[in-house]
Parts: sequence; C-alpha cells; structure tokens
Amino acid sequence: MDISVPLHGKVALVTGSTSGIGLAIAKTLAANGADIALNGFATADQVATILQDMRTETGRKVEHFPHNLADFAEASALVSAVSSQFGKIDILVNNAGVQFVCDLDHFPDDEWHRLIAINLSAAFATTKAVWPQMKSRGWGRVINTASTLSFQGEPGKSAYVAAKHGVLGLTREAAIEGAQSGITCNAICPGWVMTPLAEKQVKAKAEALQVSFEEAARQVVRADMPTGRFVAPNEVAAAVLFFCSDAAKSVTGTALPIDGGLLVLGAYQVEAAK
Ligand code: NAD
Repeated sequence: MDISVPLHGKVALVTGSTSGIGLAIAKTLAANGADIALNGFATADQVATILQDMRTETGRKVEHFPHNLADFAEASALVSAVSSQFGKIDILVNNAGVQFVCDLDHFPDDEWHRLIAINLSAAFATTKAVWPQMKSRGWGRVINTASTLSFQGEPGKSAYVAAKHGVLGLTREAAIEGAQSGITCNAICPGWVMTPLAEKQVKAKAEALQVSFEEAARQVVRADMPTGRFVAPNEVAAAVLFFCSDAAKSVTGTALPIDGGLLVLGAYQVEAAK
C-alpha cells in the first residue's frame, strides 16, 4: 500500500502493540517517520526482536513500555513514562483489547471488570493524561480501536460489546472537547482480522463444530464478511495513518468500519428476516 504521510518529529504511543493490529499500526506510523512507544505483553525475546526489526527498518526511535492497562493507575503512568522518555506524545492510539466469550448469566464478574478496564477505562485514563500536553501544543491525534461490535451485539460478548460501544462514546466526547484545540479523535472499527484475539475465537468454533481451524475460519468469514476474507492488519493501520495526517484535520468524532461490508450485511440480514 503506497500512501505516505510525513510524521517526522511526531511521537506516537500505541497501546497493545506487541502483536496483531497494534503492531501493524506501530510499524506503519514508524515507516512514515514517527517515533514509537510500544506497549503490550510479550516475552523479553519477542520484545527485543520487534524493537530491533522496527529500528533497523525505519531508523526511528522505538521503545517498549510494559505497563498493564488492566490497572487504571498504570494507564496514566504509561503516558507519564512515555512523555518523559520521548519528551511528548502527539499521537495516541488506544488499541489494547481483550476478549472473553460466555453467556450473560454465567459471565464471570472478574472478566467483566477486566474487559471494561482494558478495552474502555484504559482509553479514558491515557486520553485524560495526554490531554493537557496536546491542548497546550494545539495539535493531537487520538485514535481508538473500536469494533463492528461498537454498533451491534453478538451472543456471549456482553462485556466486549459494552466496552466497544463505550469506546465510541468516549471518541465522540473527546472529539467535541478537543475540537477547539487542534485535537481530533476518531475510532477505527475492524471486522474480523486474523490476530491472536480472533484466532482464539476461531479455535473455539472449530472445537464446537468439530471441524478444522481452516474450515472454522472460512465459515466465520463467509458468514460475516461479504468480501469473504479477513481484513489485513495493515489495512487497519492505513486508516490510522490517514487520521494522523493533516488532510484529516477536520475529520473528528467519526467511526470508520474497516469490515469487508460486515455491517451492511448485518443490516441486510435484519431486513431479510422481516
Ligand atoms: P491481539 O491479541 O493480537 O493484540 C492485543 C494487544 O493488546 C497485545 O499487544 C496485548 O499484549 C495487548 N494487551 C492485552 N492485555 C493488555 C493489558 N492488560 N495491558 C496492556 N496491553 C495489553 O489482538 P488484536 O486483534 O490485534 O486486537 C487489537 C484491538 O483490535 C483490540 O482492541 C481488539 O478489540 C480490536 N479488534 C480486533 C478485531 C479482530 O478481529 N482481531 C476486530 C475488531 C476489533
């Protein structure tokens, strides 16, 4: 994908960027000139490899911050740590997310709290912490990884769906409050992307249906996505890059589905069932 947006001199914090969508976003922003603060869980060897690859490929400053976003105080501390090591944060991508699938009546309370903390409260904590510096410089980009499940429900995903709806509310609120200060806030809403988070769900489906992983993956995509294929992480990253550009300075408070038509198919299915 050949789109370039000059981000030289900008510092981006991407939460949940040790794998999947977040890693693709971090790599894309670095390839376009931004210095990068990574965050998320991984082994020491995995972190060392990611840092070395990204530094070699892009020549940018790239560091890893292991803060656990399940803890509200650590989410704020992450912004402080990155700001003191890099001098500032211009771009905040709230991407860290986890899933837990269980029917409502058996949904464990601690999983509810964990999902709301990581998927929603952490985004509030980091946004609040970064806000004063973005306001004082008159420039900022906040991009939240929401989901197609910010618009609709799915059985067994009460905490995730509630959190992702909340992420959209937070996005809209930040957009309004940042509008006079050169800060935009937008949400990306991916459909199925084959990452460790999605893999776990496909594996569970394969076990439930007694089919291979590949067959379960095919069924998930065929049922949900008119394009018939998973969204690639770098397609999501390209949307984030656009939101970071000056061309997008009037684009704020939006929620961009990158979903292979999943949401319009959902509307069609509802119409067809009437
Ligand atoms: P992933 O499992 O590959 O990545 C999740 C990242 O979050 C990892 O870096 C992980 O270490 C980090 N993380 C998890 N718990 C954390 C914590 N407590 N503190 C700090 N970091 C933590 O999954 P992904 O699919 O790349 O998910 C990224 C985002 O995209 C999530 O917000 C997810 O909800 C969203 N999303 C994914 C899909 C999909 O199909 N994969 C679809 C829509 C939205």
